[in-house]
Amino acid sequence: MALNVHTDKSVLGVDWAKIETVLLDMDGTLLDLRFDTEFWTEIVPTTYAQKEGIGLEAARAYLNPIHARETGHLNWYCLDFWSEVVGFDIAQLKQAHAAKISWRPEAENFLRKLRASHCEVILITNAHPDTLRIKLQQIQLEPWLDKIFTSHSFSAPKEYQTFWQKLQAASAFEPQRTLFIDDSESVLASAEHYGVAHLITLRQPDSSQSKRTQTQYPAVLHFDELFEGLPNCDK
Ligand SMILES: [Mg+2]
Repeated sequence: MALNVHTDKSVLGVDWAKIETVLLDMDGTLLDLRFDTEFWTEIVPTTYAQKEGIGLEAARAYLNPIHARETGHLNWYCLDFWSEVVGFDIAQLKQAHAAKISWRPEAENFLRKLRASHCEVILITNAHPDTLRIKLQQIQLEPWLDKIFTSHSFSAPKEYQTFWQKLQAASAFEPQRTLFIDDSESVLASAEHYGVAHLITLRQPDSSQSKRTQTQYPAVLHFDELFEGLPNCDK
């Protein structure tokens, strides 16, 4: 399959006059994916191992195939599903570690500029409602957003066309005049299939991981690369 490959030398600009709706992902886009990576790859397996009285490798050997099987489906994001799998309350564990949730660089400034612009700004996330609640308690996202939708309320993740059809029904948008930013390229491919015309991904969704040097979609390291053409706001 031929892919559009964007290297870190790509020059990227948004013609903001052509955009009326900005759709934003949460984890790995506005917020540092580092929290989620540590939670799912360290904290959950360690807690499960302690509960079962088994080693960490045995815990991972149980959990990793389930992760792999559910990737791209709603269960992968579903705290109720994972609480069943491990036999303890995942939301409670997440709440206990919530202090580690943090912004990505320049994300809050980007939201401030978007708020002052002509664009409607909508958060669309695959996060479970409990995850969303915990994150919104920790990080002041809501003042900058016109609307928030979690795919759980549509019973379909962003990877599915059903999500986009239900989003359109819930909050009409013109795909040709919509910009969507998401760290997941499979999610961006789903949006592209639906007809969303302006798509951007992130070079470093997780500050604990190295930067992506090649992406399938145009990418930014930090949002300040998109500031040109947006209103100037005092910090
Ligand atoms: Mg994401």
